[in-house]
Amino acid sequence: MNFENSLSFAKTQDDADQLHQFRSQFLFPNHNGKDFIYLCGNSLGLQPKVASEVLKRQLDNWANYAVEGWFDGNEPWMFYHKELKKLMAPIVGASPAEVCPMNTLTVNLHLLMVSFYQPKGKRFKIIMEGGAFPSDQYAIESQVRFHGFDPKEAIIEVFPREGKEVLRTEDIVAQIKENADQIALVMFGGINYYTGQWYDMETITKAGHEIGAIVGWDLAHAAGNVPVKLHDWEVDFACWCSYKYQNSGPGGISGIFVHEKHFNNTSLNRFAGWWGYQESKRFKMEKGFVPEAGADGWQISCTQVMPMALFHASLQIFEQAGFIEPLRKKSITLTQYLEFIVNEVNKDLGFEQFKIITPKNPDDRGAQLSIIAERNGKQIFDGLMANHVLGDWREPDVIRLSAVPLYNSYEDVYLAGQVLLKVSRDILISR
Ligand SMILES: *Cc1c(COP(=O)(O)O)cnc(C)c1O
Repeated sequence: MNFENSLSFAKTQDDADQLHQFRSQFLFPNHNGKDFIYLCGNSLGLQPKVASEVLKRQLDNWANYAVEGWFDGNEPWMFYHKELKKLMAPIVGASPAEVCPMNTLTVNLHLLMVSFYQPKGKRFKIIMEGGAFPSDQYAIESQVRFHGFDPKEAIIEVFPREGKEVLRTEDIVAQIKENADQIALVMFGGINYYTGQWYDMETITKAGHEIGAIVGWDLAHAAGNVPVKLHDWEVDFACWCSYKYQNSGPGGISGIFVHEKHFNNTSLNRFAGWWGYQESKRFKMEKGFVPEAGADGWQISCTQVMPMALFHASLQIFEQAGFIEPLRKKSITLTQYLEFIVNEVNKDLGFEQFKIITPKNPDDRGAQLSIIAERNGKQIFDGLMANHVLGDWREPDVIRLSAVPLYNSYEDVYLAGQVLLKVSRDILISR
């Protein structure tokens, strides 16, 4: 498509956008009567307007039914998570039985590694991307220690080639093959939080399976952002948070995926709790843990109704939008427009102040662009904030901006470009 750096072009795009109306279902941050241009959905998604109503409804259920709320009312809490499973499944390409909402992300990462990181003999290593999100690094490091290994020996990190920012699939696959008989687990983030690179999940999963390893994914930056096919790609397990692209609120509930091929595997270790017990017999309170079938068997504690109600409300918006495919279609073009606008700013400045490190190919990225600001990066970022453009800053020099298809418009992107140009000129040129 031929993009134009003009308000009229942006507005024409918005008029033709079938998803444009969804924007009105969200609350944008507002200071002094002026809305922010919000380009930070990669970190925390916006609040759906129905959120307070939905929470109020559950508070009312609690008030009116108290303990009977588990079984009474039109949304009995005992079975409430099943509604979410139905809506989560299409977003990650799974069957409802393969997914479950529970806990928070890093907790689930640990629980799933308890089951799926099973070192045996010389096959004890975990391969992951270098520069993974710190929580994942700490989780993996502490898991290998828990099994008595030295992280320096047991963790293989794949780094980009000299002078490059992102990984090549062939290099990941080559390292998997080189360590074929030593890798127990291949564990990557679907989209890297820093570079915005979306890894070739299908190829990497296949490479892991070919050497006899288990393959798991942290989809924190991928779930609700890009289409993934966890079941068809035969991914063993995955987990994600829902407060980034899925707008479930700070600390919102996490999702897990366990492939159906593992449902009957009784050799898997689990850290068990009563909520993972066979549902029909849970209240017999018998000795000896028997897991519920499917992903539900990994639950530990009783349903967190309030955060689940928020997640449910935001999943219903995804359902109205047609789940992931229509959003992805818009996302590809909207992110290309953002890329175009950043390059226009460079052109207007007369030098390459902003270098996008996120891959250019839409197949290798989601909504996020990671932009190295060559000079005065933090100052420019603060200038954006002061002018009501909200992205985020990652040390040492990266500004992350995401145009989220559910609530961002082409006009947002155009206006953000205008602010970026003005702020950069003020800081870099006029003095
Ligand atoms: C956001 C994010 C997290 C956050 O974990 P929490 O347990 O929800 O605090 C973890 N891992 C990755 C890759 C992330 O992007």
